[in-house]
Amino acid sequence: MRILIVGAGIAGPTLAYWLHRAGHEPVIVEHAPALRDGGYLVDFWGSGFDVADRMGIVPRLVERGYVMREVREVSDSGRRIAHFDPRPVIGTAGGRYVSIARADLAGAICDALDDEVEMIFGDTVRSLRDDGTKVQVEFEHRAPQEFDLVVGADGLHSRVRALAFGPEEQFARELGIAVAAFDLDGYRPRDELVAVTRTQVGVQTLRVALRDDATMFCFMFRHDGEVPADGEAAQRELLRSRLSGLKWEVPAILARLPEARTLYLDRASQIRMPSWSSGRIALVGDAAACPSLLAGQGSALAMVEAYVLAGELSRADGDHRVAFSAYRSRLASVVSTKQDAAVGLGAAFAPRNGMQLLLRNTVVALMAIPLVARLAMGHSLRDPIELPAPPEPHAAAA
Ligand SMILES: Cc1cc2nc3c(=O)[nH]c(=O)nc-3n(C[C@H](O)[C@H](O)[C@H](O)COP(=O)(O)OP(=O)(O)OC[C@H]3O[C@@H](n4cnc5c(N)ncnc54)[C@H](O)[C@@H]3O)c2cc1C
Repeated sequence: MRILIVGAGIAGPTLAYWLHRAGHEPVIVEHAPALRDGGYLVDFWGSGFDVADRMGIVPRLVERGYVMREVREVSDSGRRIAHFDPRPVIGTAGGRYVSIARADLAGAICDALDDEVEMIFGDTVRSLRDDGTKVQVEFEHRAPQEFDLVVGADGLHSRVRALAFGPEEQFARELGIAVAAFDLDGYRPRDELVAVTRTQVGVQTLRVALRDDATMFCFMFRHDGEVPADGEAAQRELLRSRLSGLKWEVPAILARLPEARTLYLDRASQIRMPSWSSGRIALVGDAAACPSLLAGQGSALAMVEAYVLAGELSRADGDHRVAFSAYRSRLASVVSTKQDAAVGLGAAFAPRNGMQLLLRNTVVALMAIPLVARLAMGHSLRDPIELPAPPEPHAAAA
């Protein structure tokens, strides 16, 4: 089947990899002019790691990734007030855990794609018409084409979802927290392989030193209103007004905001949908079921969803109705359990009051005791997902 995949993030190229291997003809369209560079770090583990292993990209992820030696909470003066070594906990996941720039993860997946997979950059879909036998696709720039299926892998603010299922407000659940992430060159201090946080009521600042003298920063703060969708000046203004008055290194970080190579600013939200498909159009990754960054597993789930969807399409022998239904039944409850768990995690990042802050810092301090750390985190590092066998390789792709 000829299948259009909209979005070259994590889910899209993973889906293309497995579809091509099963003998289909995936075409990816990505609205950015090229793969995104830089950006924020994601913690990557669980069944998504297993999918990456089956794609043969784990050595590359390990080479590009980081294993933190310390998670450190500091005071306004930078004094360490609580800390723990996450490596023993990571060990309980069999070492199958890496922190990696989202762009490096996406790059590794794209590089695993066969050269035959067509990738179109700098374009997107304008309209989708499912006529019952094909999907007629109009693009913003190129001539219309028809595809057997269309899959939206275009992230939290998916256009495919808006075109085929309805406006985002119907499906989005806001968690009352906004997130800004960006990286700077030559920032000091660095603290190699330490995730340094300064958490106060309503806001957390995170600093992590990256390779090549770069440093990533992340602010998570209580925010119920809108955030400017684009326009870096407006985004910087929101950050300055919301974060001014904070101490520690925050004034120095904000002063250098105009130099940020990439600035991500958005609300932490989840996407919860009663169905991930409509006729010949389906959704995968954040577009279908964003668990929010608080879940810390969106990338892994995106890969698992893509892998399972490709497998079901292969097993259903071209019957997309059977495949789409099996895809959802296999994953819906796992995804909603992860989404439910993430809703309660806001207090760990941006505590609502002094009591939540005290509790949070006490938990971080207790994590220094390996048994406590294993009890607190070990469970969340095990995924209740049994991956099906990979799609049978097509003779030409084997
Ligand atoms: C600050 C932050 C921290 C995070 N931390 C973690 C973490 O620790 N662990 C973890 O697993 N996950 C984490 N996540 C979540 C993770 O990044 C996402 O869940 C994951 O990227 C989802 O993959 P995706 O392919 O569905 O969407 P995306 O990665 O968002 O990719 C979507 C792609 O579609 C493209 N696109 C968008 N609109 C269109 C359009 N109209 N036409 C064509 N292309 C389009 C985009 O340019 C992009 O390339 C974090 C997220 C954030 C913001």
